[in-house]
Amino acid sequence: SWSSSDSVISSDSAGDQTGPGNPYRVVLLGASGVGKTAFASIFAGAADIQSDFTYEKCFISDEVCEKTVEVDGEPATITLLDTWDAETDTDCQSSQQCNMQTGDAYLLLYSITDRPSFLRASELRITLRQFRPVHHTPIILVGNKCDLVRRREVSVSEGRACAAVFDCKFIETSAAMQHNVWEAFHGIVRQLRLRRDSKEA
Ligand code: GDP
Repeated sequence: SWSSSDSVISSDSAGDQTGPGNPYRVVLLGASGVGKTAFASIFAGAADIQSDFTYEKCFISDEVCEKTVEVDGEPATITLLDTWDAETDTDCQSSQQCNMQTGDAYLLLYSITDRPSFLRASELRITLRQFRPVHHTPIILVGNKCDLVRRREVSVSEGRACAAVFDCKFIETSAAMQHNVWEAFHGIVRQLRLRRDSKEA
């Protein structure tokens, strides 16, 4: 187990951002059809097949889901936002609901079977930089549908190279197989904690 005395101290300390009253706002971004809804429903479900931790079902409205998960032995509350449709809401600046301005962290999805969605992810990354000029906003580039090997249009190395250019992490996932989806959520929490810890230091 990862739970060290350090993490116990940090979860009790004043100024901690992970308490139920102060959840991390994580936004799913990406072209339509890449798997954002599939990601959200895995998050909303009770099971994390990668750990023994059984989560409560999500408090969920249509577009927002909030729950506390355990990452490295420490609880983290995530508010997952899946409201932003990259295809219809292109004029983000005028939309009050635009999650680009409100997220603490972003999962930027494309489908490995859909090259235009990969290009769209690059565009979204650039737009995100305008909305979130803060240098350390955690972002993970997520190549979803990696189960569809024969329909692959974007290679792993292209995904990795793109993430390197955009200064973000990279992971390939399969929402259909529930592969690496929790890993992506846990990864974003780890990055948020690193940022929090460096602020506190
Ligand atoms: P959204 O528009 O980004 O919310 O995409 P959806 O979550 O609605 O997914 C679009 C379609 O792709 C649906 O038919 C999903 O079942 C399917 N899908 C999502 N993720 C995966 C995956 O990892 N593998 C496969 N094979 N299909 C997926």
